Amino acid sequence: VTHVALGSGEEFDFIRGLVARWGERARGIGDDAAILSLGRGDRLLASVDAAVEGTHFRADWMSPREIGYRAVAAALSDLAAMAARPAGVLIALGLPPAWRERMADLADGIADAVTAADTVVRGGNVSAASELSITTTVLGTAFSPLTRDAARAGDCVYVTGVLGAPGAALRRASLGEAMGEYRARFVHPVPRLLESRWLAERGAAAAIDVSDGLAADVGHLAAASGVAVAIERARIRCVPGVLADDALISGEEYELVVAARSPLDTDAFERRFELPLTQIGNVIDGPAGAVLIDGQRVANAGGHDHLSR
Ligand SMILES: [Mg+2]
Repeated sequence: VTHVALGSGEEFDFIRGLVARWGERARGIGDDAAILSLGRGDRLLASVDAAVEGTHFRADWMSPREIGYRAVAAALSDLAAMAARPAGVLIALGLPPAWRERMADLADGIADAVTAADTVVRGGNVSAASELSITTTVLGTAFSPLTRDAARAGDCVYVTGVLGAPGAALRRASLGEAMGEYRARFVHPVPRLLESRWLAERGAAAAIDVSDGLAADVGHLAAASGVAVAIERARIRCVPGVLADDALISGEEYELVVAARSPLDTDAFERRFELPLTQIGNVIDGPAGAVLIDGQRVANAGGHDHLSR
């Protein structure tokens, strides 16, 4: 049974344990989404993502509509990471009694996210729960999906967008301060669905979305591909007031990292999407999963470990 190599950390050790336990009964674990061949033509991609109140978000930091939007947008970002076209979502809600009266706003937020992705809700489930949870299964199709494990030494490495706002917003919120100018990017991440298909059509070979932080997710891509990646700090585009070192560990960006064998046309990308596409470094021969920043290896890429406390 083949799987994608996972990075280090407690969360991935736990997943390795599950996969070992399942043995032959699990297949192709470890990328942003599962790829199912259906015979002729396109392939089906599926991924599931949970947003749990108190664990992934605080209800007092966002409106119900923003909570619904953000949960589903984050899940859709895994389809973007694979350059898949969305085919629908399934929504499983864990609903505390107090949330029943906020259902319309939550539903509107979910609708905002599926509308922006040009897709629909195909089904789901509702159950009583002690805290709000939104578990989103996303389905998509792709003829040649972008995977994490296809980066090779010599590739150019790019990232979309301008980084740092979600991390800065979270830092302020956790200090009890207003998120201010960083709030919009935190509550309204945009899955880069059209962007990833554009990049795949123009030579991107491997991709991952930035959910744990740029350094950590580049590390996941490097681990899956069995290569190292060298990044130049000065090339990282940061929002005003955020330093590159903080942008490197800012999670929940939902921007894309791609590796390409030959240079991509960043000007054409920026004209098409009004969004920066920046080469931040290169894939190099080196220890699998290693991330070098200005030549210095990052010990622990500083990402979010979903099981650490
Ligand atoms: Mg992902």
